[in-house]
Amino acid sequence: MLKLYNTLTRKKEDFKPIDPPHVGIYSCGPTVYDYAHVGNLRAYLFVDILKRVLLYNKYDVKHVINITDVGHLTSDGDQGEDKIEKSAKLQSKSAWDIAEYYEKAFLSDVAKLNIIEPTIWAKATDHIKDQIKLIEKLEKKEMIYKISDGMYFDTSKFPDYGKLANLNLEGQEEGARVEVNQEKKNPTDFAVWKFSPEDETRQMEWKSPWGKGFPGWHIECSAMSMKYLGETFDIHTGGIDHVPVHHCNEIAQSESVTGKKFVNYWMHNNYLLVNEGKMSKSKGNLISMKTLEDKGIEPIVYRFYFLTAHYRSKQNFSFEIINNEKLGWDRFIQKFLDLGQNEGSVDEKYIETFEEFINDDLNMPRAFSVVHDVLKSDLDDFDKRATILKMDEVFGLGLKDMKVEGVGDIPDEIKSLADERLDARNSKRFDKSDEIRLTLKKMGWDVEDTQEGYKLKKI
Ligand code: AMP
Ligand code: ZN
Repeated sequence: MLKLYNTLTRKKEDFKPIDPPHVGIYSCGPTVYDYAHVGNLRAYLFVDILKRVLLYNKYDVKHVINITDVGHLTSDGDQGEDKIEKSAKLQSKSAWDIAEYYEKAFLSDVAKLNIIEPTIWAKATDHIKDQIKLIEKLEKKEMIYKISDGMYFDTSKFPDYGKLANLNLEGQEEGARVEVNQEKKNPTDFAVWKFSPEDETRQMEWKSPWGKGFPGWHIECSAMSMKYLGETFDIHTGGIDHVPVHHCNEIAQSESVTGKKFVNYWMHNNYLLVNEGKMSKSKGNLISMKTLEDKGIEPIVYRFYFLTAHYRSKQNFSFEIINNEKLGWDRFIQKFLDLGQNEGSVDEKYIETFEEFINDDLNMPRAFSVVHDVLKSDLDDFDKRATILKMDEVFGLGLKDMKVEGVGDIPDEIKSLADERLDARNSKRFDKSDEIRLTLKKMGWDVEDTQEGYKLKKI
């Protein structure tokens, strides 16, 4: 039975989808104003592992990731500039070009990391009508009000507000004093529609029943998730930084409109830290996939490193750590390719242990320890390979197609000598087969007879 940790109930629960074998997942996607940093990418590796575990358990997954290309302001408190328009000004490009460029860069990172693409990429600017419709429904229910810079959701009208984060609202009011827009009725109220400034033409703006402007950041996720996955769906993911604001707001908007529970399982990945601090732009400690590649670290090494920590634990990043992971990866691949290219049969005993770990809230570090156990075991090399490849359906390291030049490759000359030896042996010309065995040995290869034929091993 698959168990997943649910942020909403604060415990591990047996996973029960609404309509098995179908599972709907919505993941908060990137804001495309800059390259994704490796902390952001941790959020998508986590979702990819979640999805692979569901697929491994024979579920049929419908996955939606949004692309935020408008409306995410520099402060989560609905203040400041739109991140995309700010980046456009800094780079003297149009906001549309900025969004398109960084979206492409993100898709390229996703591909390099072997992340399975979602069923639907949902872009905020492609769903403006859906967002306006949702805001209209909120207006009908008298959940929103107007102030000078936009339409705001009144959180005091949603009794369960903040439940996901266990928010202490009184504490929040005091803490929020400095940042809070004084026109808001409650500090936790948030914008669903922002008006374009009167003295400025925004590059991205739309007409709406409330005036020209653009959607607040949170409304896109409610509108697009419910559009594609229904009013109540199975799993919603994101980084833990989304718990106190973004996800509490998504719940408030969605449940106020439908009167139904929005999401059954909320799942959040913990932070990637750089020298014990959160990786973030303002700290100037951003590392992108390109930074890694420029330093000779292949993206797959980052995926390998990701598997060494549980998604709910903080994970510390440094170049020293990732360089060590690279050495670990090279050693592992060498051992794996040394098993040869033939597949034997999957060992059920090791697979059973592996399944226990992956189904225990995606415990990848423990699941990967089973790979090491298999390598050390006395299983036949072909069976080791088959067992590890089965597990790689979840790890997603692309081991099946893995070939490192010079490692694990058997030269044609050696293969044909081994074939010749097998022929000799099958026709009981043992002197000849022994002679070829000796020749192979001199050339640095050991040949072993097996049920399937033979196995070659580098000496
Ligand atoms: P953003 O592009 O800022 O909207 O973030 C994209 C995703 O990355 C979200 O799910 C965030 O919660 C997540 N995220 C941001 N910073 C980190 C970090 N340092 N470690 C892990 N996840 C992060
Ligand atoms: Zn979201």
